[in-house]
Amino acid sequence: MIPAAFNYVRAASLAQAIDLLREDPDGTKLLAGGHTLLPALKLRLASPELLIDIGGITELKGIEIGKAGVRIGALTRHADLLASETLFEELPIFRQAASLIADPQVRNRGTIGGSLANADPAADWPAVVVALKAEIEIAGANGHRRVAAQDFFVDIFSTVLEPDEVLTSIHIPRPTTGMRFIYRKIRHPASGFAVVGIAVGVPMRDGVVAEVSLGVTGAANHAFAGQAAADFLTGKTLSRENIDQAATLLSETTECLSDRYASAEYRANLIRTETRRALLALSS
Ligand SMILES: Cc1cc2nc3c(=O)[nH]c(=O)nc-3n(C[C@H](O)[C@H](O)[C@H](O)COP(=O)(O)OP(=O)(O)OC[C@H]3O[C@@H](n4cnc5c(N)ncnc54)[C@H](O)[C@@H]3O)c2cc1C
Repeated sequence: MIPAAFNYVRAASLAQAIDLLREDPDGTKLLAGGHTLLPALKLRLASPELLIDIGGITELKGIEIGKAGVRIGALTRHADLLASETLFEELPIFRQAASLIADPQVRNRGTIGGSLANADPAADWPAVVVALKAEIEIAGANGHRRVAAQDFFVDIFSTVLEPDEVLTSIHIPRPTTGMRFIYRKIRHPASGFAVVGIAVGVPMRDGVVAEVSLGVTGAANHAFAGQAAADFLTGKTLSRENIDQAATLLSETTECLSDRYASAEYRANLIRTETRRALLALSS
């Protein structure tokens, strides 16, 4: 449980962090909340030469709510997303999801940027940012770029981030008028991570579903958007029958992970039940 020796630099700015990363991308790790990285160092699952602590970089912090939507800095902690009243008024799903992440100790240190960059297939924020149709902003030596959340996650613990890039912020467009979101999660009893997590948003227009925004985590290699089920439900009423069919479609079209705690069949069943429960809650 003792990490290999490493050098440590506390970066004063994003530009300095990127410069340091460029010198040795494969031998360097960014440190945000440390709640995933430090256990990995202790178990020697990672042995970087250099740790760049980005915790003091002001431009990576904060929640800004504007006319076009919301910007959340990568260093925003789970606890900040839980506590923010202005964010709660705009997008209550952030408080709901943050309250389901681990415990106060983890929430007080862990950051949304660290969670997204780490891309644990059972993490909560990936489902939420996919459902919200967010864009992830990334900075590197060649400047800034934005990637749609549903294209950001590539595989288990793998994203489109290059080794010399920093995730800087999350941009969430203002949702369609009347859109309500809900996040449902079945927690692993030991870790608290999502065995399956479903984030879904539905606005109604003239009695039918105008659009469906869906994000799924825990079930597969990485978070995804569940487009077939969303397309099925769009333009239909939120009747029990339609909800059941959409939930079954999502369950049947997902290639589920299997592990010692939850088989693929069990996860597929959880997708069905949790999607059904989430949509029923939105229909009332
Ligand atoms: C006991 C326990 C229970 C937990 N339960 C849950 C849970 O229920 N749900 C859940 O979602 N999560 C859970 N987590 C994970 C927790 O939310 C972590 O804090 C989070 O996954 C990582 O965020 P961090 O800020 O701690 O990142 P760090 O540990 O500092 O970094 C994680 C990885 O991301 C990289 N990184 C960090 N920030 C950036 C950035 N801005 N740009 C590029 N790369 C970056 C780091 O280099 C590292 O590789 C749990 C963790 C613990 C220890």
